[in-house]
Amino acid sequence: MNLSRQLDQYLSGPLCELAKDVSGQAAKLQQRVYLVGGVVRDLLLGYPNFDLDLVVEGDAVKLAQQVAETSQAKLLAHHRFGTAKLRYENLTLDLATARKETYARPGALPAVTPGTLKDDLIRRDFSINAMAISLTADDYGELVDPYQGKSDLERRLIRILHPGSFTDDATRILRGVCYEQRFGFEFETQTARLLKRDIPMLDMISGDRIRHELEHIFEENRPELVIERLGDLGVLHRINPSLKGDGWIADKFDEARRLNKPSQLPSLYFCLLVYSFSGKAIEQFLARLNMPAKLSRAMRDTLRLKTKLQLLNEPSLKPSVVYYLLREYEHVAIQANTVATKSSTPHRHLQLFLAKLRYVRTSLDGEELKKLGFSAGPEMGKVLQVLHKAKLDGEVRTRADEKKLALSLSGRS
Ligand code: ATP
Ligand code: MG
Repeated sequence: MNLSRQLDQYLSGPLCELAKDVSGQAAKLQQRVYLVGGVVRDLLLGYPNFDLDLVVEGDAVKLAQQVAETSQAKLLAHHRFGTAKLRYENLTLDLATARKETYARPGALPAVTPGTLKDDLIRRDFSINAMAISLTADDYGELVDPYQGKSDLERRLIRILHPGSFTDDATRILRGVCYEQRFGFEFETQTARLLKRDIPMLDMISGDRIRHELEHIFEENRPELVIERLGDLGVLHRINPSLKGDGWIADKFDEARRLNKPSQLPSLYFCLLVYSFSGKAIEQFLARLNMPAKLSRAMRDTLRLKTKLQLLNEPSLKPSVVYYLLREYEHVAIQANTVATKSSTPHRHLQLFLAKLRYVRTSLDGEELKKLGFSAGPEMGKVLQVLHKAKLDGEVRTRADEKKLALSLSGRS
């Protein structure tokens, strides 16, 4: 089947020219080059996708070097992996040498040797991701589909390529559920059976790889669908027994997206995911996922702040009191609590902090206080603190108000 017309329509003008340039250079080196993976699937589905992944039968690094020499692209090559990235002004192109993989043991990273396109396709996760389109001039646009990916797309099925697939790499369980929910597809019968059987193989997967797949899920438009389904399948429980994918999570993820200026959404989702955790469970989860320091802090802060919310349950709290209570927490932890708490008074205070209090600054700074006769050091620090507090509480508004207050503090007014 030839898709050259669809391909030219699908790729925007510059992308199309780029693809042709790469294939022309490949021909000079007597290499064949293919578009592979998600972009082929999305082209057939009619969904946009501009992550261009290319597989080269030959040597991807050499090809990328050649392309870089005759264009403005920046080259990033990994000789050891036979991969290269070409960075253009507003797009990147990933090139990989076609490779063959063997797994020494379940969950381990595979041993890699050069191979054919077909070798490269069979190492992939699902038939719908194991298609390629040739970019080589003599068969430009030809669909390479050795595992009936197109037919599975039409039948809306997620199918692994061999029965050992989930044992080789149990992250595919998470990936599969992600595609199932994104596209509204179903698992083919045998795939569904093996997926359930192989859930315990997740124990063999490193924390970084599990976390990476959760981050991938958190890039979805509606990650709660994936999380709920992973909960029903018992996958979440396997990762950590306290993890749940219930209706509460679904509601809160949805609210998180509607929050005014949510911080990094993936971080916020992580914080909400652990909202019901005990202190012990969170430490286990952070260790299991080898969570980076900043996100660990945000997740711990989320739970710490949750235990302090009753302090915010006083309607007449002064803004400065709210500010001093909350300033030590990561913003994403405050956002998580805003979304998670049902009590209206703490909710209002949390929102006030996020929307306003955290941005309040005095109009006068140290330099200006010096001009008013204050000396640098603890005295000035104290004055700035008083001014800031007064500004938070609306007791001073203008620069003149601040000046007056500062002078009154020194007894110079
Ligand atoms: P998405 O739209 O979610 O980015 P994608 O298909 O582009 O989907 P990537 O995670 O970007 O997915 O991976 C690119 C390709 O690499 C996939 O299409 C798949 O063929 C292959 N791949 C990724 N992860 C695995 C894995 N764990 N096992 C086998 N193949 C994989
Ligand atoms: Mg991708």
